[in-house]
Amino acid sequence: MQAMVLTKIGAPLEWTELPEPKPGPGEIRVKVEACGVCRTDLHVVDGELPNPVLPIIPGHEIVGRIDAIGAGVVDVELGERVGIPWLGHTCGCCPYCMAHRENLCDHPLFTGYTRNGGFATAVIADARFAFPLGEVGSSVALAPLLCAGLIGWRSLVMAGEAQKIGLYGFGAAAHIMAQVAQWKGMSVYAFTRPGDTATQAFALNLGAVWAGGSDQPPPELLDAAIIFATVGDLVPLALKAVRKGGRVVCAGIHMSDIPGFPYSLLWEERQLMSVANLTRQDGIDFLKLVPDIGIVTKTTVYPLFEANEALADLRAGRFEGAAVLVP
Ligand SMILES: [Zn+2]
Ligand SMILES: [Zn+2]
Repeated sequence: MQAMVLTKIGAPLEWTELPEPKPGPGEIRVKVEACGVCRTDLHVVDGELPNPVLPIIPGHEIVGRIDAIGAGVVDVELGERVGIPWLGHTCGCCPYCMAHRENLCDHPLFTGYTRNGGFATAVIADARFAFPLGEVGSSVALAPLLCAGLIGWRSLVMAGEAQKIGLYGFGAAAHIMAQVAQWKGMSVYAFTRPGDTATQAFALNLGAVWAGGSDQPPPELLDAAIIFATVGDLVPLALKAVRKGGRVVCAGIHMSDIPGFPYSLLWEERQLMSVANLTRQDGIDFLKLVPDIGIVTKTTVYPLFEANEALADLRAGRFEGAAVLVP
């Protein structure tokens, strides 16, 4: 198999020829058809997440077909199309797993961070953490749903019963959640980097009722806001944009420091919360709805060997929607 491998923090990924991996008990081997590029991959490459396991193959928005099945795996078929998300394994016995909060598991493995991911022609996965995807939709179009979609979905659920919802950072996750939020009857307010009129136009095109810079107040107070951007400065701005009792959900795995802000921004029962990882139930709930919602993902395709270019373009905000690697 071939893979783009991270051997040193901060260094470019290296095109590497590796022996074909064999699935162990409980595992499947998946021939990768598409793998989305997520901001978390940048955090891994940049060393912003603790204790990375090096060398590592990044990538956790994987769509592919099962081409080998390990001992003890039932209910899957060779050739079946599956999606492999960020949550790659949980212990099943820690207090969080026991409380149906496996997203907070004490001993997890994360795809593309602490176990090899999908910037490759093949990947080994824990069969219990692979979602059946069926045959509707192209693998490229489905790939961004595996993280941007899933984490976005968990964030949207966390945002609660909102009518007016703000999305800060209109990238891969927000462009999917804008569609889901409207399907749920919400009005979407899109916040982009100040002056980024192209992304604002993209958001309006996707049905947002308002789009502006993150330094602008929305035309009316919001019921909730989700911060997808990794910028701590947005937290007080978002708190200012929500009404009494409103929620601000931080969806990222990493964020720059949050500046000090007056207590009055949080007072009146505003809530500030974060979303970590996903549970398998999130995946089941969300993927079941995808055909109904009719989500259209905007993707920019790169060949696998151009993973470094895709990461650089993501960093610079050079495309709309999501980047997807294809072997
Ligand atoms: Zn656990
Ligand atoms: Zn991700």
